Amino acid sequence: MVEPYDAVDVIRTERDRQTLSDDQIAWVIDAYTRGVVADEQMSALAMAVFLNGMERPEIERWTRAMIESGECLDFTSLGATADKHSTGGVGDKITLPLVPLVAAFGVRVPQLSGRGLGHTGGTLDKMESIPGWRANLTNEEMFDVLREVGGVICAAGSGLAPADKKLYALRDTTATVDCIPLIASSIMSKKIAEGTGALVLDVKTGAGAFMREEARARELARTMVDLGTDAGLTTVALLTDMLTPLGLTVGNALEVRESVDVLAGGPSDVIELTVALAREMLAAAGKPDVDVAAALSDGRAMDVWRRMVAAQGGDPDAALPVAVDTHTITAEHDGVVSAIDAMDVAVAAWRLGAGRARKEDPVDAAAGVELHAKPGDTVRAGQPLLTLHTSDPARFPRAEQALAGAISLAAPGTSVATRPLIIDRIA
Ligand code: URA
Repeated sequence: MVEPYDAVDVIRTERDRQTLSDDQIAWVIDAYTRGVVADEQMSALAMAVFLNGMERPEIERWTRAMIESGECLDFTSLGATADKHSTGGVGDKITLPLVPLVAAFGVRVPQLSGRGLGHTGGTLDKMESIPGWRANLTNEEMFDVLREVGGVICAAGSGLAPADKKLYALRDTTATVDCIPLIASSIMSKKIAEGTGALVLDVKTGAGAFMREEARARELARTMVDLGTDAGLTTVALLTDMLTPLGLTVGNALEVRESVDVLAGGPSDVIELTVALAREMLAAAGKPDVDVAAALSDGRAMDVWRRMVAAQGGDPDAALPVAVDTHTITAEHDGVVSAIDAMDVAVAAWRLGAGRARKEDPVDAAAGVELHAKPGDTVRAGQPLLTLHTSDPARFPRAEQALAGAISLAAPGTSVATRPLIIDRIA
């Protein structure tokens, strides 16, 4: 086959800040998926996009090309469906209670998830700490669980947006992840190909997010909402705070335990965001007037969770992995917690074994960080602030180093202003 373009010309066009044509974009994504465009050429192109950006029509075409690189699923036979995607945070276990909560109202939730890489945790790694639970389902198995239980959390099959799978792994090793056109097209190609009827995006901003600055997070949210809407997918974004870790745990089994607590009424920030996202998903799926909080308090969401875990081979009653060793960091003096840096906590959890450096590395299901206080809490000297969990105590010193400046204590009695968890809604 004679290729219609030359990768070097495409790279040069983007490098010189000219607009890529529809055909150039369609070709380069397809040729990269086929292995005709080499990794080093795609790296150069990704870096040129990172540095020079892309115009909205180029992002739209790039997204479409990634969708066209693989199969598209169709859930219309199952009735109303809704999904949520987070841009990645620290302690972000929201998917776990959210899927059964929304499914409890008869809206089906096909949650195709990923693994953690870098500082952010991955939903599949968390779920895999449940003994027996299986992430890889065939499309038929996924449809069966959706039909019978109402919600499914599983790995996206290899046929869905394969161009993104290749490109995301490449971006992760070439410092081209935190780039609005590339993040927006990566997320939206998967979500549009997945075939959900409605999509709610949780776009995070702050120290523990890919988009630290609020203005950039807003631009990312706007770009993704427009891409979804233009593709005929009802799409809404919540802009949410990621200065502080979400909830009281960071780490795989620790977060599963906390999610089960949420289903039984647990920490307030996780409940607040879970309920807010569930309301958005249900409204987008045509159920705006249901009492979301009631399904948490009366156990309906917990019931779906248990059936969902069991449907994928997991035992919802099994003991979760527990760390061999723990180490507690205490307050040096009396004070009020004024900040907990989400990125520092994420790096510590990662160094304790909760994350992976390369995508083939295993994770330590029991590793992570437990928070005993949150911003605004008053603490006394000697009171526990954080407990570190790991299966390898040799990891403690480097984790402690990461946490050296993580917690700020203001003088006792100081009133600490915290940013609202939900900063804005973008539709
Ligand atoms: N999540 C994705 O799926 N893709 C990105 O590029 C960033 C976060």
